[in-house]
Amino acid sequence: MGTISDKVLVCSSLKEAVISVCGKDVSVEKKQAVHGGDANDAYKLFLSDGETLFLKANSISNKDFFRAEAEGVAVIMQTGTIRVPHIHAIGTDDGYSFLLMEFIERALPKKDFWEKLGSGLAAMHKADTSSFVTDGKYGLNSDNYIGAGKQKNTPKNSWIEFFYECRLRPQFELASRHLDGSLIRKVNWLLDNLDRFLYEPEKPSLLHGDLWAGNFMSDETGQPMLIDPAVYVGCNEADIAMTELFGGFDRKFYDAYFKAMGAIPGYEERRDLYNLYHLTNHLNLFGSSYLSAVVRTIERYC
Ligand code: ADP
Repeated sequence: MGTISDKVLVCSSLKEAVISVCGKDVSVEKKQAVHGGDANDAYKLFLSDGETLFLKANSISNKDFFRAEAEGVAVIMQTGTIRVPHIHAIGTDDGYSFLLMEFIERALPKKDFWEKLGSGLAAMHKADTSSFVTDGKYGLNSDNYIGAGKQKNTPKNSWIEFFYECRLRPQFELASRHLDGSLIRKVNWLLDNLDRFLYEPEKPSLLHGDLWAGNFMSDETGQPMLIDPAVYVGCNEADIAMTELFGGFDRKFYDAYFKAMGAIPGYEERRDLYNLYHLTNHLNLFGSSYLSAVVRTIERYC
C-alpha cells in the first residue's frame, strides 16, 4: 500500500482498501450499480458495519483514469471553495482498477442551489493557481483525461498557445480521418489564427474542465458539489462555455457567477471555439454523429 497524496491510499485489492479506509475489519455486503456516468462503472457499496462507500471501476489498462481523478479532486479541494467528494483510495484488484470515495446521499437541491453553484465556481476560478502548475501559467503538473480521452496539460505561459498546443491540435490530429481536405485546410487556418479570436486572461483560473450537467450534484444538505473533474489551469470562459454545450444551466447560476466575476465582454463570440475542443473530443470518442456540429463550428470561425 502507498499514497498519491497526503490522504489517498494506493491499494492492491478492494478488500485492503475498504479495511484501511474504515480502520477495522469490515467487508462489502452488497454492491448496487449507480448510473449517470460516462466512462466508468459505478457502485454504492454497503458495508458490514452499516456504512456506505462509492466505488468506480474500470479495466486495469485504464487505471490511470483514477490516479488523474484523485489528483484533480485533490486540487479542487485545496482551493477550499466548493465541495468535492473525499477520495479515500485508488488501486487494482483481480482484473479491474478502482477508485473508492465517500458516498454522498443526495438531498433535494436547496432553493439557493444554483446561486451557490455559480458563486462557488467563481470562487474556485479566483483561487490562486501557482502551486497547480509550476513550470508555466497554464496547464497542470500532470496530464489527465477528458472523459475517456487523453488530456495533455504541458505547462505554457500563454493561454492561446496552451489552447492550441494542448487542446485543439491534439484533438484535430486524432479527428483528421473524419475530415476532408478542404476542412483540414480550414482547421489549419483556424489553429494558426487563434489569436484573432481568443485573448490572454488577466489571471489564470483553476477549471473543472468537464463541467456538464452530469458533473455536479446535490449533497446530503441540498448544496452543490462538483464531481468527476478534468482539472487544469486555463481561462475561466472555457468552463462557462462547457456549461452551455448541452443546453445550459439555470439562469440563476450565470447571474451568480457573473455577479462574482464581473461581466466578460465578447464571451459569446468565443464560446463555440472553446466548445470545439469538447465536440472534437466527442467526435473522436463516440464517432461521426458529432461531425456536423464540429463542421458548423469550424465554418463559423473561418
Ligand atoms: P464517470 O466517471 O463514469 O463519468 P461519475 O463520476 O460521473 O462517473 O459518477 C457517476 C454517477 O454517480 C454520477 O452521475 C452521480 O450521480 C453519482 N455519483 C458520483 N459521485 C458520487 C458519490 N461520491 N456519491 C454518490 N453518488 C455519486
